[in-house]
This record gives sequence, structure tokens and C-alpha cells, in this order.
Amino acid sequence: MGLSEIMDRVRAAEAKAGRAEGSVRLIAVSKVQPDERVEAVLEAGHRLFGENYVQEAAGKWPAFRARYEGVSVHMIGPLQSNKARQAAELFDAIHTLDRASLAKKLAGIAQERGTCPELFVQVNTGEEPQKAGVLPADADAFIAECRARDLALEGLMCIPPDGADPAPHFAALAGIAERNGLSGLSMGMSADFETAIAHGATHVRVGSAIFGARDYSKG
Ligand SMILES: *Cc1c(COP(=O)(O)O)cnc(C)c1O
Repeated sequence: MGLSEIMDRVRAAEAKAGRAEGSVRLIAVSKVQPDERVEAVLEAGHRLFGENYVQEAAGKWPAFRARYEGVSVHMIGPLQSNKARQAAELFDAIHTLDRASLAKKLAGIAQERGTCPELFVQVNTGEEPQKAGVLPADADAFIAECRARDLALEGLMCIPPDGADPAPHFAALAGIAERNGLSGLSMGMSADFETAIAHGATHVRVGSAIFGARDYSKG
């Protein structure tokens, strides 16, 4: 289990960037991991997790929440509108708000429930056609639209293109956040979280470096 090593590296990257200790939150991405591995990380005292699939999260987190206090689970995968209600009930944060129809849906649910998960707008910084997220050029207008619907935004999220230098993508996301007065930056994964922290990440999403490789054949 690589939790303590990764936590050490997060703290070291914070210090190197001149950032306050604890200013970066480590989201342990537990999608597709066997329960024993998740449990080992919970037993080690970690409480913040990320999941990609509503169904999988619904099957595993209610039981863990009943056994461990203070657990937070963040949705970091694409969210279908027909699962928005279930997601709003299951998750403490949603990092993948990426379209007007989902904003409208979540705003209605938030009004009914009187509460809403923390929200991050996903930005497709690489402008990849197959990837979710609003285009950088549309981000300011989309953020304004969310705010007009009374959705409180925590920040922005991105997933840089595979194989590309992530640094310019992290810098671009930080720029969009800054000009829109948003403080949260969900960026950085196993391979690049230190670079993300150097560019201001407040939430890094690390899976395989903590839990080991994912085995999708058992899913
Ligand atoms: C799976 C996933 C991660 C974690 O990826 P690792 O490379 O295992 O650290 C982070 N963010 C998102 C959006 C993911 O889907």
C-alpha cells in the first residue's frame, strides 16, 4: 500500500511550491479496487476517496461510511443526467460538471434537497473530441451560467491529454480559475500530481500509485 509514500510526496511538493502544509487534499481513487485494498487505506486513517461510477460507489460506500467516521467520497467520472439525483445523495463532491443540462438538473435537485455536493467544472483543456468537459473558450460563460442557477462552485477540474506535457494544461486551468474567482483546482493523477501541485492543485486524484494497478477483468 503506497498511501504513506504518496502522502509524503504530496507534503514535499507543497513545501517545494511554497504552499501551506495541508493545502493539497489527496483523493485516493478507489474505482475498481478490491474492498480489502480500500479497507487497508481506511484503516491507515485516510478518509477522502474518489470514484468514477455511480453504481460501483453505491455498492460499496454506504457500508464503509457506516463503519468509518468522517469519510468523504468524490465523484470524478462522467455523470449521466439520469444518475444526477443518486450522485447528489451519494457523493460529497462532483468533479465532472461539464454541460448545461447537468447544471440545470443539479440545480433543481439542490433546490429540492436544500443541499448540494461541492461542484467542480470539468474543462477539456486539450480540446479532445472524445473527452468530457467544457472547452476553455466556453468556460467563463458556463461558470456564469452555473452561478446564475445558484450553484456554488468549488473550482475546476481537468484531465490533460495522454502523453502530453501536463504542465501547460494545469497552468491553463489555474488561469481560468483565477479570472473567475475560483479557488479549487482538481488536477494531477499518479503520474503527474507533483507537477499539478507546483501549478496550484488543491485536490490531486491518485489511484494506482496508492492502491496498485487496477484489474478491470474482475469488474
Ligand atoms: C482513474 C482516475 C484517476 C486516477 O488515476 P491513476 O492514474 O490511477 O492515479 C484520476 N482522475 C480521474 C478522472 C480518473 O478517472
